[in-house]
Amino acid sequence: MSEHLNPFEIAQRQLDDAAQILQLDPEIHSYLREPMREFHFTIPVRMDNGRTKVFRGYRVQYNDARGPGKGGIRFHPDETIDTVRALAAWMTWKTAVVDIPLGGAKGGVICDPRELTQTELERLSRGYMRQVAKIVGITKDVPAPDVYTNPQIMAWMMDEFETITGRHEPGMITGKPLELGGSAGRGDATARGGIFVLRAAAETLGLELQGATAAVQGYGNAGSFAHILANEILGLKVVAASDSRGGVYNPAGLDAAALAAHKQQTRSVVGFPGAETISNGELLELDVTVLFPSALENVITQRNAGNIKARLIAELANGPTTPEADAILHDKGIYVLPDFLCNAGGVTVSYFEMVQNAYQFYWTEKMVHERLDEIMTRAYYAVHQAAQENQVNNRIAAYLVAVARVAQAVRARGWV
Ligand code: GLU
Repeated sequence: MSEHLNPFEIAQRQLDDAAQILQLDPEIHSYLREPMREFHFTIPVRMDNGRTKVFRGYRVQYNDARGPGKGGIRFHPDETIDTVRALAAWMTWKTAVVDIPLGGAKGGVICDPRELTQTELERLSRGYMRQVAKIVGITKDVPAPDVYTNPQIMAWMMDEFETITGRHEPGMITGKPLELGGSAGRGDATARGGIFVLRAAAETLGLELQGATAAVQGYGNAGSFAHILANEILGLKVVAASDSRGGVYNPAGLDAAALAAHKQQTRSVVGFPGAETISNGELLELDVTVLFPSALENVITQRNAGNIKARLIAELANGPTTPEADAILHDKGIYVLPDFLCNAGGVTVSYFEMVQNAYQFYWTEKMVHERLDEIMTRAYYAVHQAAQENQVNNRIAAYLVAVARVAQAVRARGWV
């Protein structure tokens, strides 16, 4: 049987599974299967050669019963509306599972930012904001970075928004540079949150991580910081890392600082001195204690799940594992820390950023780390408890916790 890889269908299937166990009211269930609203638009951009190119953009506000929409904007050539819908749904469950007062949303532009100059990228970012300015803001929907977007892009977007509205409102977007109201600790927050969850999981499993091995698939913001923090906080030895161009492997361990410098210089981990070249596929199947899928959706599928040897999978990417693969991993006894729990550190520190912007009073990095630790560890134990009580895997357990919270808010508002 061939596997369905449409991310939104996958997100709906996961919700359906949880709804059944929760015995969720069918009316709330059907309401939660669809986004509340979505925006599709075009963005005309004057390119450096003087010609205009038209890009396609989206913002999906999946659910805002618990608070303003929240979620990043992805710039990617393979972006589709169904990817944005799935990511917006996962944001809804993500903010609920860590219990921060926000809803779920996501944005995207079909483009390849690696082929754009800085000036073109700036005009595209400002053009995106001109299209969504009416529908975003601190009380409506708050964007942030995602794949191939970064603090500089957030700064251009905030500036465009403030130029349109004529007032300062830094909390309308997060992941900003520090000098424009960004939060200390936002840069590595996704990875750090995942490391805190992993530490708690290892404790409940009685698993010693000090000196154990790990592999990082995807060496962007989440993956590269996961490497550093896995070394620093847990004493894990990262033996393999990969990006869109391929991977590297060294059983003696890869040096995080040297590998980051190599990637900075050559734009890839490939060719890192002293390491063997491997493919992304081979990396996923390495015999390591912890696997960090940290890039895009659908990398662990029914085709390779049977070959995965990791003891534990910490999903820093959104949607890396398909439902078919989940069932196989479960049968093999592989412990999965599901995406919207494991990678919720980013949005949690985004929430801290909004709070600091609202009060115009800024926290130290130490405070950010402590509060992040508290929230992530508490969320892990809530999910762990739901998994034990219902005898389900962690992904379904995370859905049980999150969906129940969103359903309660929808019910209390009298929407359904
Ligand atoms: N893009 C990140 C995520 O998928 C962060 C979202 C945010 O900070 O709002 O969780």
